[in-house]
Amino acid sequence: MDIKSKIRVIEDFPKPGISFKDITTLLLDGNAYKEAIQTCIDQLEGVDYNVIVGPEARGFLMGAPMSVMTGKGFVPIRKPGKLPGETLQHEYELEYGKDVLEVHKDAIKPGDRVLVVDDLLATGGTAKAVCELIEKLGGEVAGLAFLIELNFLNGREVLEGYNVYTVVGYD
Ligand code: AMP
Repeated sequence: MDIKSKIRVIEDFPKPGISFKDITTLLLDGNAYKEAIQTCIDQLEGVDYNVIVGPEARGFLMGAPMSVMTGKGFVPIRKPGKLPGETLQHEYELEYGKDVLEVHKDAIKPGDRVLVVDDLLATGGTAKAVCELIEKLGGEVAGLAFLIELNFLNGREVLEGYNVYTVVGYD
């Protein structure tokens, strides 16, 4: 199946100049969604990980089904104030301003081998922040998996030193 053909591209969303890759059209087709998840898992052959971590909200749409299909645990990364337990925060720079991510402190154990997932790799800023959060808790980033990569934004450079896996790319 051509997974890329299931992804809808909407120009100038959320602001002029952005070509938005909309996965909701993929999600609507359960078989295509399942195949996309399976392809993501299959490309990780040989990667040794015991837990999957994904940032809200679209990281959940990748990470939760990958967790169910592989039997590995899933850890949600959230914006501040959403997680009920004791959390660790990480602040990171955006193009304009700052953002904060949180994780439950007891969700990652020292020595855990963590797979970071999200729907899309753009500049790599979000994924890098997630990696830093994991490493602060003593986890080791075994790899990062994305359904989509925007090749022209060179997110892989920001993630240099990490193993990055993607299914479909846009130039
Ligand atoms: P970045 O931190 O720049 O790599 O941005 C990654 C996050 O922003 C991902 O969680 C994506 O869901 C979202 N994102 C960034 N650019 C796009 C785009 N062109 N289309 C859809 N989602 C995007």
